[in-house]
Amino acid sequence: MLERLIVFILGACWGSFLNVCIYRMPKNESIVKPASHCPSCNKPIAWYDNIPIVSYIALKAKCRNCNAKINIRYFIVELLTAALMLFLYNQFDISAKFFIYSILFSGLIVASFIDLEYQIIPDEISIGAVVIGLLVSIIFPKFHGFLSIQSSFIFSCLGLLVGGLSLYITGLIGDFIFKKESMGGGDIKLLAGIGAFLGWKLALLIFFIAPLFGAVMGLIVKLKKKISIIPYGPFISLSTFLAVFWGEKIINWWWIFKY
Ligand SMILES: [Zn+2]
Repeated sequence: MLERLIVFILGACWGSFLNVCIYRMPKNESIVKPASHCPSCNKPIAWYDNIPIVSYIALKAKCRNCNAKINIRYFIVELLTAALMLFLYNQFDISAKFFIYSILFSGLIVASFIDLEYQIIPDEISIGAVVIGLLVSIIFPKFHGFLSIQSSFIFSCLGLLVGGLSLYITGLIGDFIFKKESMGGGDIKLLAGIGAFLGWKLALLIFFIAPLFGAVMGLIVKLKKKISIIPYGPFISLSTFLAVFWGEKIINWWWIFKY
């Protein structure tokens, strides 16, 4: 129980750092310096007002100095990251898999929330995922269930190609039909990176699941507001989570329709 609590608290602190990445990466600011400050009054935030999850509730979502509203995203990301870390810990204990999936899903959290706000996915995340995914296949071939580095690396490269090409070709077809750019380059690079991490089978599964979420969300957005731009990064990320933990079940269930 105690170790789970520690994982949850460390996860919340990690989420706090991810918040900094979400806020600063699209602005091309450094993610290490300076210390956190209120975006409204610029006053540095004291440590006791910067405690993950807790401070947001204690401050009733307002800056202590200027009373400006604190974005609920801070709270959501901290809670989500803490819950994710606890989930990964329950699945994998403290192991190579725990750390590899932590890196992948942390990147996806940052990409999703930046995409929601700015409709971009930073290259640091997508290209970063490609590089780290390929490195993992070389350093931990067992992660992909291979004994030889060669097979694992090829598996990872195939994932990269299938992930990237599937969205790229979809984009080409979309451009042709709608006569405007329909698939963002960031999404293509992101799925390529996920493919490098997870291999071609799961990349293909994510390619098929993500539009289902996108369609449901697109309908809600259309009914509520009159805008039609839907950030795709969050759906890719959500689908990745499903594919990693329930991918095999989903594939089996899919097969039912063949009979
Ligand atoms: Zn303030």
